[in-house]
Amino acid sequence: MIPACCAFCLVAPQGMRVSRTRYIFCTGGVVSSVGKGLTVASIGRILKARGLKVALQKLDPYLNVDPGTMSPYQHGEVFVTADGAETDLDLGHYERFVDENVSRISSVTAGQVHLEVLEKERKGDFLGGTIQVVPHITNEIKRRIVLAGTKTDADVVIVEVGGTVGDIEGESFLEAIRQMRIGLRRKDALYMHVTFLPYIGATGELKTKPTQHSVRMLRSMGIQPQIIIARSDYPVTKDIVEKIALFCDVEPEAVIPLTTAQTIYDVPLMLENSGIADYIIDWLKLDVPQPPDLSAWQAMVNQMQAAQETIRIALVGKYVALRDAYMSVKEALVHAATARNQKIEIEWILADELEKNRHLDTLATVDGIIVPGGFGHRGIEGKIVAARYARQHRVPYLGLCLGMQVMCIEFARHVLHFEDANSAEFNEATSYPIINLMLDQREVTDMGGTMRLGEYPCRLVPGTLAAGLYGKSEIRERHRHRFEFNNAYRIPFQDRGIRFSGLSPDELLVEIAEISDHPYMIGSQFHPEFLSRPGNPHPLFLGLIDAAIGFRDARMVVAQPTNNHH
Ligand code: GLN
Repeated sequence: MIPACCAFCLVAPQGMRVSRTRYIFCTGGVVSSVGKGLTVASIGRILKARGLKVALQKLDPYLNVDPGTMSPYQHGEVFVTADGAETDLDLGHYERFVDENVSRISSVTAGQVHLEVLEKERKGDFLGGTIQVVPHITNEIKRRIVLAGTKTDADVVIVEVGGTVGDIEGESFLEAIRQMRIGLRRKDALYMHVTFLPYIGATGELKTKPTQHSVRMLRSMGIQPQIIIARSDYPVTKDIVEKIALFCDVEPEAVIPLTTAQTIYDVPLMLENSGIADYIIDWLKLDVPQPPDLSAWQAMVNQMQAAQETIRIALVGKYVALRDAYMSVKEALVHAATARNQKIEIEWILADELEKNRHLDTLATVDGIIVPGGFGHRGIEGKIVAARYARQHRVPYLGLCLGMQVMCIEFARHVLHFEDANSAEFNEATSYPIINLMLDQREVTDMGGTMRLGEYPCRLVPGTLAAGLYGKSEIRERHRHRFEFNNAYRIPFQDRGIRFSGLSPDELLVEIAEISDHPYMIGSQFHPEFLSRPGNPHPLFLGLIDAAIGFRDARMVVAQPTNNHH
């Protein structure tokens, strides 16, 4: 990448031209949770399908530095980037839809921005000055937006502002994206507003008034959107489109109705058909290298829709009331099931309930079990019940991070008879701390961003299930944990049939454990779900689906009376 001499300059110091970056700023109106992140990710996909280099970025107005310290019930899943940032779950959609790794710069929070400005103030960088939202906070936001483009050499940076217009905490972000236009060439920035049209059942009509109000609010802050995406659960008529265009001062062809899709993977195809990409390209005067090619995406969606059989997987977790807490796990299951022409049905099991009344009857009906990541003591005993059930009944099991630790605790208690075996996270006084705090975590006192985070290499042991699934000997996977398998117990575990099939290159860290005498019982200390992509499922999830198909089909054979009379 050629460095530009200043943030907005198109000419590098040596006089060489750098590619001109265009910006699409996406705001939300009326209500949140209408799929703004998916819309942004889908637009990224359809622009990439034309050969453009796209970078995506999310601006989150909350004051936490990152969502890593929030409960999943507040925030949903924490998505971990390869470079170890704990980010919003929308970044997972960005990676899955655009099929590019995002990085730390793709996630900007008000907390990060304020922290940076205040640290500079303490160092004396602004000596003599009064530190203010405009220009200090807005400049820092703009610096990060520009960096998202220069770091990736993107043709287009799509910037999503979290929350909805009118939120007090979002104002500095809106002001920053307004200011971005100054210093850019005319038409190098495009503003897009995603709103919602409520449906009034009594009269059977969709209402545009909230959209009009939110656009009015946006305009009062100096931002006139060029595109309005009108989300709705019902079909949007031409009248409604024209009304929005008239009241919001947007061209009718730039009012894009987007009705709720059957699956999230339909959204790029719907947006492609809407003509929005051509409007964007025309507005931003982009040179497009090739006509859109969404054929692989279309084939994947077709395959998803054509699947006739269903695989049922139990997901035993602590936050199952909020499915967004397991977003990447859910999607990784969809990708793997689709690749095997299966539909996926997730049986959400609250681990605490399994602990209390032992819902084993539900486990008895599923084709596979996943114990995902998690923190804290609640629900642990229920997860151990699930792991025990999977081991004893030979149900395919995939443990993700905590799920691997749980699998080892269960094995220690019931196979090795280490009665009170546990993780030191849940019982510091256990006589068998088979999962222990990592050495380099012992001095850590701050809670934010201090776990073992991001991508690390892992060597696979030849001849193991893991090595067979991946088909290679070295992998890189993403992590988010403080605890690890306690190496003092490797030998007794190995003696009774656990294989440590993935190790850190120095062999000091167990990254994958599997039970040899079981069709598919495997756990990873990392989070494979972050690497799964539509059309390119993750080997551990594919392995689970394959084993689950085998388990389901074998059970059907047993359940069906043989009417082979001839
Ligand atoms: N709580 C466990 C640890 O910190 C597992 C973390 C996780 O599942 N992401 O090691």
